[in-house]
Amino acid sequence: MAELEGLEFGKSDFVLLDEVNMEQFMENLKLRFEKGRIYTFIGEVVVSVNPYKQMDIYGKEAIEAYRGRELYENPPHLYAVADAAYKAMKRRAKDTCIVISGESGAGKTEASKYIMQYIAAITNPSQREEVESVKNILLKSNCVLEAFGNAKTNRNDNSSRFGKYMDINFNFNGDPTGGHINNYLLEKSRVVQQQGGERNFHSFYQVNDDVYCHKAVLSALKVIGFTEEEINSIYRILGAILILGNLQFETDTESVQVVGLEVLGHIAELTATEPDAVGKSLLYRTVATGGGEVIEKGHTEKEACFGRDAFAKALYERLFGWIVGRINAIIEVKDYNPVLHGKNTVIGVLDIYGFEIFDNNSFEQFCINYCNEKLQQLFIELILRQEQEEYQREGITWQHIEYFNNQIIVDLVEQPHKGIISVLDEACLTGGQVTDTVCLQSMDTKLGQHPHYSSRKVALRSGRDGRLSLSRCVHAPPPPPPPPPPRAYSIEGFLDKNKDPLFQDFKRLMYNSSNPVLKEMWPDGQLGITEVTKRPLTAATLFKNSIVALVDKLGCKEPYYVRCIKPNEMKSPVLFDDARCEHQVAYLGLLENVRVRRAGFAYRQPYARFLQRYKMTCEYTWPNHLMETDREAVEAIVTHHGFQDDVAYGHTKLFVRTPRSLFTLEQERAAL
Ligand code: ATP
Ligand code: MG
Repeated sequence: MAELEGLEFGKSDFVLLDEVNMEQFMENLKLRFEKGRIYTFIGEVVVSVNPYKQMDIYGKEAIEAYRGRELYENPPHLYAVADAAYKAMKRRAKDTCIVISGESGAGKTEASKYIMQYIAAITNPSQREEVESVKNILLKSNCVLEAFGNAKTNRNDNSSRFGKYMDINFNFNGDPTGGHINNYLLEKSRVVQQQGGERNFHSFYQVNDDVYCHKAVLSALKVIGFTEEEINSIYRILGAILILGNLQFETDTESVQVVGLEVLGHIAELTATEPDAVGKSLLYRTVATGGGEVIEKGHTEKEACFGRDAFAKALYERLFGWIVGRINAIIEVKDYNPVLHGKNTVIGVLDIYGFEIFDNNSFEQFCINYCNEKLQQLFIELILRQEQEEYQREGITWQHIEYFNNQIIVDLVEQPHKGIISVLDEACLTGGQVTDTVCLQSMDTKLGQHPHYSSRKVALRSGRDGRLSLSRCVHAPPPPPPPPPPRAYSIEGFLDKNKDPLFQDFKRLMYNSSNPVLKEMWPDGQLGITEVTKRPLTAATLFKNSIVALVDKLGCKEPYYVRCIKPNEMKSPVLFDDARCEHQVAYLGLLENVRVRRAGFAYRQPYARFLQRYKMTCEYTWPNHLMETDREAVEAIVTHHGFQDDVAYGHTKLFVRTPRSLFTLEQERAAL
């Protein structure tokens, strides 16, 4: 551990700090970053600081060094966690998952790729062709998803604008046999609007200026198994979206027209539809009257613009969803027979947006932060609660750690009938008159008394705007880390973004396309206006459902964590911005994590397994012990090495507080 690298590099596990406080934590984190040690453990959790430069630590040699080894045998690394997850999966047939979190630009996606590369490198030693092909597709899918789902933002040149959870399936040999990708909340508003200095999704630029990347994406699409026709369709849809982006309307005398009619022809050609039909869907909507009559109603110019943008966003979102679906269909495990092939196990890798707190936060941040509260809740459930429960079960006395259980925040957002999402949905269903401000008022009525809810009016340049705040405090004695500030969101736009309406006319237009790929993306376009369900699920509810399903999926797996930290805003490899880093450490709850680890025991092993591994380091246990129980034999080893203060004896397991003792045992073992 620390000793493995030399003390000048700081403590390689925060558990080894002399005292657990923010000052020491930050000092160690900074020292290690400055010495080029970007990874540090908290027990089994890896804290990673983005180096913003190429590191020579991911090569073949490194892979070999970590392969099949125990966590405490090597310096901290993503590979150590990847290997731990893989071992648990292979040796104990456990489904595992690796949850990677941190803010934009902290290095989550890079970490997820290194983890996947590691897993690819250590599996399939016999180079079986079908397994190699699965691995190749899994790796190539990153390239495609990044092209269509990532964009340059002010925080990160290659920012993932969607959440990604990838399951990798393994057979009983521990070789990958397939996988499945779930994507979450693609930021589709980017298709029509970007902040200053930001860009649209990479895919739009690759056709013209980023041609080099385009070649890589094309080749990845082919390797994965997309057909020529499918690839063509993808780029035709992108073309249509680009044209929609430039399409303007004008109002002459009474009616609204498209400026430059030839654009309709272009869109029709790219989407395999008729120019007239394209024009009609942009300018009119079909509505059912109260009497059941179906009429066409002309848009105002404002409505036409709104419809056009909603159409462009939906085209892109469905394209992205379809690409993910196609990859899934190709990599899905087929013909798996558990009787013949043994248990099919899974490692899940989650690369999802971290908490976002900007100067002005909107619906998207609200969803993203809700997702993070859920993940934090899972972390608390899995790490803190399970930990405390295991000590109780094993009869080990220890000091109970107080932690903030953020279930109360999660409930505030998602509770049926009275949570924020439910109030929002209700407002969306009420119809035309309800504005964002009215919606906020009904939240005030329902949630005004909630200790973590507040709303206020703030004057913005553009007028008055309501905000709702969710406050979140973390308590952990003593001394408590500074509580993160409440998260305030501007209510403006919540209703529209939640309703996310798209005129049925566009759906029908696409469903009637003679391009089968496009048609496949719009199955709901076959519904007539009177058949369309009046109450489609809202964006927030769809998101909530997908996150609840994700948390359920993660909850039944053995979790491993990578917590990423962004050292500065300048993408500099040398700058460690103390305040920014401290802020992230607080948000990620890392000090609490260390406290729990330290109050408890970082490592544990059933007596028999410990004995098996270390019996040769003690004369009383080698080659066999004569004591009544394995536990007594283990006590003999521990006492022989003088570690008695670093351990506790449970009913079935030995608990070891710090990695130092294990490290010494490992060295003795190796020296024999
Ligand atoms: P977002 O939430 O915006 O998607 P992220 O956490 O996924 O952000 P990454 O895209 O992984 O962030 O990292 C941002 C950039 O930081 C990378 O493009 C790369 O330049 C650099 N970087 C991250 N991790 C590493 C690493 N381990 N080695 C070298 N450079 C890195
Ligand atoms: Mg990313």
